[in-house]
Amino acid sequence: MCFRGKVDAVIDPGAIAANLARVHERIAAAARAAGGNSQSITLVAVSKTQPAAAIRAAYAAGQRDFGENYVQEWQQKAAELADLPDLRWHVLGHLQRNKVKLVLGKVALLHGLDDMQGLDEMARFAWQAKVSQDVLLQVNLAEEASKRGCGENDAELFVEVLARSPGLRLRGLMLLPPFDLDAVAVRPWFARLRGLRDRLQVTYAGTPNLPSAGQWWLSMGMSHDFEVAVAEGATHVRVGTAIFGPRT
Ligand SMILES: *Cc1c(COP(=O)(O)O)cnc(C)c1O
Repeated sequence: MCFRGKVDAVIDPGAIAANLARVHERIAAAARAAGGNSQSITLVAVSKTQPAAAIRAAYAAGQRDFGENYVQEWQQKAAELADLPDLRWHVLGHLQRNKVKLVLGKVALLHGLDDMQGLDEMARFAWQAKVSQDVLLQVNLAEEASKRGCGENDAELFVEVLARSPGLRLRGLMLLPPFDLDAVAVRPWFARLRGLRDRLQVTYAGTPNLPSAGQWWLSMGMSHDFEVAVAEGATHVRVGTAIFGPRT
């Protein structure tokens, strides 16, 4: 994996701390402009391909939530950083079925629950291992063939299965919208996820094992569009390059 080659990369803790501060300022400004505040917004620092030393530098600057995409890479870094006990790991993207047992119960939040077979596998494992795992349902609003996630019309089906899966705790929705460098062009997708969330909140208000109305999370927004996502109500933004610099 490419991250091995980066072990010797020079880490600039000052630059990482400055980038983090800047991202926090931008989140706060976007939240203020939208009439809210940023206290309820979680910044997930996406550290895939970045060495453990970069994570340690961000941690020293106060960052606690980190996102990884590849299970082996995450395991290696988690071992290296085991001395940072209040660090929270987020797993982004598709979780292969044979990796479920390595991850469930060990991370703060799984952002990419994206298919029914995977859901079955996770529910069974969580039940057997008696773990409780917070998860987000990934929605493929644009129904892109290149992306994973349930279609908008299937969201209710997934939510109903999740409500009956005691080891899995649905916390909200996650979106990876069609890629567009122009953040403004992406905005309607963020708005649409928020609309779906609002409808689900009403439909399932009071349902056991689902978030209460008003508590559903929205994980959306990356380095190039997180301010727009915040404007549309993101509760979690997933930011990599704006914090750690480009990935190789
Ligand atoms: C890599 C990744 C990110 C972060 O992307 P940046 O453009 O570096 O901010 C966010 N979300 C997911 C699902 C990712 O895979």
